Amino acid sequence: MLQNQFSQASFDIVVQKYCRYFDVDSAEQFSLSQWYQVLAEGSLALAYAIPAQKKADTRHVNYLSMEFLIGRLTGNNLMNLGYYQQAKAYLANYGVEIVDVLEQERDPALGNGGLGRLAACFLDSMASLGQPATGYGLHYQYGLFKQAFENGVQKESADFWGRNDYPWQSHNPAKTQLVGFGGKIQPIKDDKYEWQPALTIQGKAYDLPVVGYQNNVVQPLRLWQADNDQTFSFEKFNDGKFLLADKEIVNAAALTQVLYPNDNHKAGQKLRLMQQYFHCACSVADILARHLAQGHRLQDFAKYQVIQLNDTHPTLAIPELMRVLLDDYDLSWDQAWEICSNTFAYTNHTLLPEALEQWDQRLFKQLLPRHFQIVDKINRLFQQKVRSEFGKNPQIWEKLAILFDYRVRMANLCVVTCFKVNGVAQIHSDLLVTDLFPEYHKIFPTKFCNVTNGITPRRWIRQANPKLSDLLDRTLQTDWTKNLEQLQGVEKYVEDYGFRTEYRQIKQHNKAILSAEIKQTLGLSVNEDAIFDVQIKRFHEYKRQHLNLLNIIATYQQLKDNPNMPFTPRLFVFSGKAAPGYYLAKNIIHAINNVAQVINHDKHMKDKLQVAFLPDYRVSLAEKIIPAADVSEQISMAGKEASGTGNMKLALNGALTLGTLDGANVEIAQMVGAENIFLFGHTVESVRELLTQGYDPKAYYQQNPVLKSAVDFLTKGAVCQGNKAMFKLMIDSLIERDPFLVLADFDSYMVAQQRIGQAYLDREAWLHSCILNTARLGMFSSDRSIRDYQQRIWLK
Ligand SMILES: *Cc1c(COP(=O)(O)O)cnc(C)c1O
Repeated sequence: MLQNQFSQASFDIVVQKYCRYFDVDSAEQFSLSQWYQVLAEGSLALAYAIPAQKKADTRHVNYLSMEFLIGRLTGNNLMNLGYYQQAKAYLANYGVEIVDVLEQERDPALGNGGLGRLAACFLDSMASLGQPATGYGLHYQYGLFKQAFENGVQKESADFWGRNDYPWQSHNPAKTQLVGFGGKIQPIKDDKYEWQPALTIQGKAYDLPVVGYQNNVVQPLRLWQADNDQTFSFEKFNDGKFLLADKEIVNAAALTQVLYPNDNHKAGQKLRLMQQYFHCACSVADILARHLAQGHRLQDFAKYQVIQLNDTHPTLAIPELMRVLLDDYDLSWDQAWEICSNTFAYTNHTLLPEALEQWDQRLFKQLLPRHFQIVDKINRLFQQKVRSEFGKNPQIWEKLAILFDYRVRMANLCVVTCFKVNGVAQIHSDLLVTDLFPEYHKIFPTKFCNVTNGITPRRWIRQANPKLSDLLDRTLQTDWTKNLEQLQGVEKYVEDYGFRTEYRQIKQHNKAILSAEIKQTLGLSVNEDAIFDVQIKRFHEYKRQHLNLLNIIATYQQLKDNPNMPFTPRLFVFSGKAAPGYYLAKNIIHAINNVAQVINHDKHMKDKLQVAFLPDYRVSLAEKIIPAADVSEQISMAGKEASGTGNMKLALNGALTLGTLDGANVEIAQMVGAENIFLFGHTVESVRELLTQGYDPKAYYQQNPVLKSAVDFLTKGAVCQGNKAMFKLMIDSLIERDPFLVLADFDSYMVAQQRIGQAYLDREAWLHSCILNTARLGMFSSDRSIRDYQQRIWLK
């Protein structure tokens, strides 16, 4: 089935080359990191030995995303190529373990969290399903910062991940683009203008191969890197100097230096807007060039191309495509609009108002004068449509306008232009229509749809949990990674003694591996028989890591007061980063670390209650934590987490969810059944009720002595080293405002935690639930998500 064979000879050539490079006589002398170079380069050659796909007669998906959190590629690509075992044997000949070599790879951290990881899972699934696709992103020099703790405080340092030496990338000089900024526009005729930018920057293409799962498909993830345009004239450069006047931009190359470290939060800076336009301009030019090179006609653009916008970050691709069609290809406004409004589709990722992107109109106009003119016309034409639907209604126009109050609203531009708008879990898609865009829904009733997120089973079970994968292989006798719904087949082994024994042993084995990792990074010896309760995700108030923390403190206080109370031992594992400027989230991290210090140093808590906060959360760390988890904390305030994907990874690997009815938790609960999940807390509806009645967090604090004492713990004694104000930011926010209802859900959360402690005592029943979680998670494969995109969006 595989066209090219694993070739020992091709690896031998790479080994020869590196003997020369490293000045050694034979490969026996290679260090592990040198072996990593050899393995990656040899595998890259195998990936590119697969011929490019023939021109397909279907739509090509252009997936535009400012983030691709791809994780380590070497092991994953070898597996997808079908050569993992051969590569392992090749290294074993030299007495080298492949897993040790794979540990040498730095994660390319080109994303913040869920949104970027979703883009990576989707690329894997599109390649694996043979959906022709190109991912378009930015080739940041510094990925998401590295996180360390100093006295419990998050410290950030630059993640210089080795962009220029990363073995999986290749510069593709045939694809260089030029991108303009600022300057003037001159009318030519009708809607055709000439834009004379003040500054031009080069965009260089760096390609990474996306390898389909054992199907001979390799397609590109194309990342754009900014560089100074050598052909650029000096006077014009001077003219454009104002653009580069900011301290942080000393030259054009600075444009793609850093990934903005915000998750679910807008970053309104000029440099960010320039990054967004740079990303869109390079990508649109590349898509057009490929479309025409394949012999298609311009008027068939929407027939052969779809541009999927991963959130509003790449929205500028809309006015950019309009501009190119009008100014460079002489199309009329109506022809250009017809193409654009049938090409773009938009995925919304959040309802949080602080995350909805808006740009200052003056900044926008200064940087992108022609685009502003185009957006202005789209806005005026849309205003006529709104008037014909609602009459002259200023309140409605205030909500629907693209340009309003000197701001450019990117989500509105997307909804007005795109032929489809999707949310990322059913509850989120419903709220999108009822709460965020009800008037739009009235105007465009068929535009909105749902595609529930998914995760690739190749990385999130086959690679991350090889022992469980092997058990599933032997049990099901089919390659379930290609069709994850086949996991249903293990339901009939849920009472099978042999299967159960192995499943339990695998979880225990994975817990031992994670324990060793915790020992190594934190110096903490943990109880491997405790419940491993994990909350691993970005730090954000809405995700409520502080709710988890308050329960830990309250539990600690109960155990201190009543050492003999019945209690199931717990290990609480945290991992996650806060945006460097998000002081409240950093305060929560500090509090968790300090509480961990106190508890872990209390000898009475040994093997009973422990807290491990692993620094520098990233894909490769997630792959180690997830297979070892017993409990998955998915405790966001109902209505705030659009979907979540960490919830899916954990449940698939046999962790039981402790969650609110939010995002994809709702669908996970439907799939696994109420007996196999721990739900708690306010629902979207009861949140609404509570807020209408008027929510008074202080009353909860004053009336619940357990809660009060847990909060007060943070202002006394060792945990704050006598500094009462250490956690003031967090405590004041909780007691005075509590925008995410932490105190309102505290009771219900504690009760759910106690139910978990009870349930775990019946190890047979617990195991039963774990197995059913694995068996029933099949629909959360990103292959299913991609099929939904095909049916509901792309093939229309
Ligand atoms: C899956 C994943 C996320 C998303 O986690 P959520 O719990 O859905 O927020 C973030 N970061 C990394 C590294 C991941 O692998």
